[in-house]
Amino acid sequence: MNQLAFSLKENRLNDLLSFPGIDENLLTMKKNALFGSAASSVAIAGMTILGWVLNLPTIVNYGFFLLALSVPMILVILFKKKHIEWFIFGAQMINLLTTMYFMLRLGGLLHSAGLMFTGISVLYMTINLQNVRITLMLFITYLFTLIFTASMQSALVPAPELFAWKNLLFFTVNCSWQAGFTLLLILNNINQKKKLAEVKQAEAVRLTELDELKTKFFTNITHEFRTPLTVILGMADLMKEQPQKWLNDGALKIKSNADRLLHLVNQMLDLSKLEAGAMTLHLQQGDMMAYLHYIVESFSSLAAGKNIRLEFLGENSPVVMDFDPEKILQIISNLVVNAIKFTPPGGKVEVSACRVKGNSSQLEIKVSDTGPGISPEMLPHVFDRFFRVETTTGADAGGTGLGLALVREMAKLIGGSIDVQSRPGSGSTFMLVIPVTNKAAIVAMEHPNPSENDLIPVDHDTSGKTTGKRKTTANADLPVLLIVEDSSDVTEYLQELTGKYYQVITASNGREGLEKALSAVPDIILSDVMMPEMDGISMLDALKNDFRTSHIPVVMLTAKADIQSKLHGLERGADAYISKPFNRDELLLQLRNLLRLRSRLQQRYAGMGPLTPVEDKGTAIEDKFMLKVRNLLEMYLDDDRFGINELCSELGMSRAQLYRKFKSLTNKTVNEYIRSFRLHKARELLISSELNVSEVAYETGFKNLSHFSRVFTEEFGRNPSEISK
Ligand code: ADP
Repeated sequence: MNQLAFSLKENRLNDLLSFPGIDENLLTMKKNALFGSAASSVAIAGMTILGWVLNLPTIVNYGFFLLALSVPMILVILFKKKHIEWFIFGAQMINLLTTMYFMLRLGGLLHSAGLMFTGISVLYMTINLQNVRITLMLFITYLFTLIFTASMQSALVPAPELFAWKNLLFFTVNCSWQAGFTLLLILNNINQKKKLAEVKQAEAVRLTELDELKTKFFTNITHEFRTPLTVILGMADLMKEQPQKWLNDGALKIKSNADRLLHLVNQMLDLSKLEAGAMTLHLQQGDMMAYLHYIVESFSSLAAGKNIRLEFLGENSPVVMDFDPEKILQIISNLVVNAIKFTPPGGKVEVSACRVKGNSSQLEIKVSDTGPGISPEMLPHVFDRFFRVETTTGADAGGTGLGLALVREMAKLIGGSIDVQSRPGSGSTFMLVIPVTNKAAIVAMEHPNPSENDLIPVDHDTSGKTTGKRKTTANADLPVLLIVEDSSDVTEYLQELTGKYYQVITASNGREGLEKALSAVPDIILSDVMMPEMDGISMLDALKNDFRTSHIPVVMLTAKADIQSKLHGLERGADAYISKPFNRDELLLQLRNLLRLRSRLQQRYAGMGPLTPVEDKGTAIEDKFMLKVRNLLEMYLDDDRFGINELCSELGMSRAQLYRKFKSLTNKTVNEYIRSFRLHKARELLISSELNVSEVAYETGFKNLSHFSRVFTEEFGRNPSEISK
């Protein structure tokens, strides 16, 4: 209790004497000086009262003078920020010289009631100032006052008021309080030295602990690095020795293990970035509930694989607020993955989110599991860096103890806090509380949700007719993205992400996805793998083996574990795989890259040169399609009525499908392509045959000669008669 009262007082004193930026030494100096001044003022006051009682006016005056001197001293100690030692020095000089004056007045060293000892306590007080010059100057002054007063003795007359017993009494009192004061200063000094030693001891313990943690960390981290590296090296050897057998499996294994290493390194980098304050927030406004639901959904197959029930309980209505999606993703993923990792099969992991009761400006997100829980001794340390609970069974759950440290730092960065409650045997609950604000820009909240009609493309036919309705919004120029996903929350989130850059259509399972892909022929497809009715893999297979859709790039969203086995035996894989939960930028970049890659295809198919076979299996079906088109055009070369409708019925495709496919493969409309094809044939004939211009025009389906000349010149920059010469 006393200890507590003392530390409270000490805290208050610290507050009184501190100012922003004060260093520890100055604070100690101020404290000691205040303590010295207060103690000596009490003693001086006692001496003055005694002087008054014994009717000693000179002593009373001396006392008043010293008390008056201590007032500015105390004020300086309380309020001055710099050069306090020099103010104290000045005051002590005045003290010494005044004491000398009173010693002279009272009749010299031996007749002045022991005032000559004042200088000794003045010298003791300088210990606190830690300034050799000041101590020496005060010492010299003190010596001077002693020697000067002694040398003046013959000229002095002892004051009659201080006759023998009063002088002796005061002498004793003065000596005693000087000794007492000195004792206090010495005790204070000892006390401070002791405290300093304790601080040093604690620091030493902390450093040893840190050292132990680091050693432990290095052991863990080397283990973490060694396992994937062993697999990578082993696979590289196998691939070299038996390329036939290991080329595919080996590459996949190398990739997944390299990913693991990369994840580890990224975690370490993130942590050091966070600690250095170099990580920035990218806030945007959106519906937190939808986002959280999406993140939790992403782990459903991981949980299902372990036979764990994973549930999300959110508020009924959207909670639109500022958040940094990347940071929230990292925090929640870490917590959910840990929960799934530690929960035994048959258990349950629940993620809930709601506004804090009584404080709607805060949102609480809880991740609770039915795992083994964490013991009370370990609980305070789970957020420490490199900390891992040692398992009694010796089972290694993997991990480096970085995850939760990262979570805590991220939580701090977003202005929130994280806590954990757990009891061994009854699971753990991690609670994240974050502020709800609405300051950031609203991102893609009003994503387009176009109806199907809107999405049938415009065919810029030379005939001037359009094959579909033009979409009236400014988004009509954006590429069309088909999202195939059974969870409406994930769909909603994906729409929110991509709505700014794409015209989005959605389907809730593989069958519907296939139907919409055939009717709208999107520019790109983003699909989940696990879906009811028809899964993503079957849909992918169907899409890639159909002329009408084979050219469309498909991005599969997968849980890592799903993909390898399922893809086996498929003629053509997806164009890209993204594992859930994904990073928003990574997804957008992947989509954009695939669309860009299409321009390579366009170069291949827009020209009329021979289609030399390439290694890439992916283009085989498109080659087949284009060859079929060319053969048909060749067959009907002289038939001027053979146009887009005839081509459609020959190929078994609708106008819209054919238009979209051509646009995608050649960046030309169907009519442009047909005309270009005819013109190239015409040029070939002009060069290699004896036919004249009008015969050639007729042979290649141009019934109007002047029209032929004009379009020919447009295409090749020279008119046909020049070529035929
Ligand atoms: P790691 O990457 O090693 O999992 P974390 O920082 O994520 O590191 O976790 C630190 C320790 O906290 C883990 O070693 C684990 O023992 C404990 N822990 C974390 N989450 C849970 C949980 N849901 N249930 C039980 N123990 C947990």
